[in-house]
Amino acid sequence: MEIIPNLHVIPSSIVNVYLTIDPDGLTLIDTGLPGHAKKVLKYIAELGRKPTDLKRIIITHADGDHVGALAALKAATGARAYANPIEANAIQAGRPSHELKVRGALALFFKLMFSFFKAKPAAVDETLSDGQVLPVLGGLRVINTPGHTPGHISLYAPAAKILFCGDSMVTEKNGTLRCSRGMWDEDKATESVKVQAALGAEIVCSGHGPIVREASSRSGMPGETCAMT
Ligand SMILES: [Zn+2]
Repeated sequence: MEIIPNLHVIPSSIVNVYLTIDPDGLTLIDTGLPGHAKKVLKYIAELGRKPTDLKRIIITHADGDHVGALAALKAATGARAYANPIEANAIQAGRPSHELKVRGALALFFKLMFSFFKAKPAAVDETLSDGQVLPVLGGLRVINTPGHTPGHISLYAPAAKILFCGDSMVTEKNGTLRCSRGMWDEDKATESVKVQAALGAEIVCSGHGPIVREASSRSGMPGETCAMT
């Protein structure tokens, strides 16, 4: 589904995978679950493009629902993978980038989720640093947004005022944003939301939930804190 010209979201039941079209080829932001590669390749074919047109795969963080299809997509396309160094280590080892801090039933839920969504190890070709700009959507800036995971990144395209926030925030049907559950560090997550709120994004593309448009005119960004209640 096209969000704006040259930016698509590839439909999936659980996680959003974004595809951009730039003069030098295609870029994927996150990959979806293990087994999602076929869906991505089908979508690329429907655009009339070849698998080898996929040049880059940018990973927001190493959770299995975001990095699950990376190994298969790299093998099928030859695309280069990009991630923050902390997340890159986890991706290459095929493990999560952090210990879970949640307790009780929620901890059990996340443990089951991690084992179910376990990604195959995959090579990361380039590590990303805060402020780095990639040649995507007229300039896509890497923003370190730790909290959900230690090396979580968001990506901001100022030309189109589009923010890809990964799992640092979750979008809701009514157009609001909230902090996601299962934060590795709530204080850092709160700080990361503040950094993103200051960007003035108009379109927010999250890892989970609908695309939020006219974001700056909404009550929008989550409240004071990402602490879990
Ligand atoms: Zn996720």
